[in-house]
Amino acid sequence: MKRRDFFRNSLMALGGLAAANAGAETAAATTNPAGKVSCRKLPGGPTVPMLGYGLMRMPKVSAGGSTINREEAARLIETAMKSGVNYFDTAYMYHGGDSEKMVGDVLSKYPRESYYLADKMPLGYLRKAEDLERIFAEQLERTKAGYFDFYLMHNISRHTWGVARKLGVWDYMKKLKAAGKVRHIGFSFHDTPELLQEVVAALKDDGLEFVQIQLNYLDWDIYRSEEQYNILTKAGIPAIVMEPLRGGELASINEAGRKVLSAAAPESTPAQWAFRFVGSLPNVFVTLSGMTRMEHLVENVGTFTDFAPLTPAEKKTLDAALVAYRSGLGVPCTGCRYCMPCPEGVDIPRIFGLHNQYKATGNRWMFESAYKGLGSAHDASACIYCELCVEQCPQHINIPEELASIHADVSGKSALHPAVRDYLASLGE
Ligand code: SF4
Ligand code: SF4
Repeated sequence: MKRRDFFRNSLMALGGLAAANAGAETAAATTNPAGKVSCRKLPGGPTVPMLGYGLMRMPKVSAGGSTINREEAARLIETAMKSGVNYFDTAYMYHGGDSEKMVGDVLSKYPRESYYLADKMPLGYLRKAEDLERIFAEQLERTKAGYFDFYLMHNISRHTWGVARKLGVWDYMKKLKAAGKVRHIGFSFHDTPELLQEVVAALKDDGLEFVQIQLNYLDWDIYRSEEQYNILTKAGIPAIVMEPLRGGELASINEAGRKVLSAAAPESTPAQWAFRFVGSLPNVFVTLSGMTRMEHLVENVGTFTDFAPLTPAEKKTLDAALVAYRSGLGVPCTGCRYCMPCPEGVDIPRIFGLHNQYKATGNRWMFESAYKGLGSAHDASACIYCELCVEQCPQHINIPEELASIHADVSGKSALHPAVRDYLASLGE
């Protein structure tokens, strides 16, 4: 495919990115307290800062360990509090449990009502219903918080949703809310829009107040964040956003993408563009950022103080930067998903998305572990070369060949399905 065609097709596929924000009704009023980050009022809930502090990647005592550097963490959190960033998001397993302890140590000197603390029930750690009470008591003790402002079922996926239903996690959380031990309940989510729709339908009229999803301008279609965002918006459920920089990838992007952005606004960083994309979505109330260093915090506070949504012209610039960025990626997949579903269960756009992320960042470990996490039912080894997907792909990608090459790269083995291999062997090839 010619580069020009890829650019044109990508722009068509990305039309939805600009359209998503353009002309959207502002569901949440944005207020600007003097000198502090802008805020939004959750429907039926408190007014929260648009920038929240994710406590998963705090500075550590040693590179290999998980213990947090208390002195540095205290400096960061105190600066955040002064800037109006008083929403903190922790979890049972962050830093091996030290994130909950650290935030308890640092925040316990502040009046309890001066900050919002979000914590999560770790569904992956639950074996029996009694674990719920034990873990919740441990979280309260670690954080010294007395109660949690926001409490989430952590990481809903097809598997953990089954665990949550079996052990009655949502009913347990409703009881915590009735007892005043948590104020608002929701869940964080890492799966398909189809499952999100199912879970939202099950809980919408049963006390669900918010959902935390992965969303950024690259995942808008690759990860189907747009569909997830729309499901929540349609259901009237506020969104809290994680991974606004896609694990840091969008803080740097590639040279081609950076050139487009800096030509339009030399003073703005790629991270600022990424945060402004998320903050411009009216149903996003808090955007979480794991700010490991003071310069991250200072820059993000600047972005969210007197927050300015992207203008239509800026949205077009971001579209163009994304196209330029994607042109340097491994496979020119736009994540449109026209090739899906694959009858054999291969998650084609996910595999290309992961591989492209690896090409952009060089993070081989992250790529390999995510690819292997797909399992043989969904990775490229399940492909039987039927080529049904190729006919659907507007980018004319030779999908089975690209998949085979990626699989061979990761596993060192051919991705040829045994049936295909046997057939070729029978032909003497
Ligand atoms: S060629 Fe492979 S990936 Fe494409 S539809 Fe067929 S089995 Fe699925
Ligand atoms: S491989 Fe699938 S998701 Fe990617 S561009 Fe082609 S049809 Fe769209």
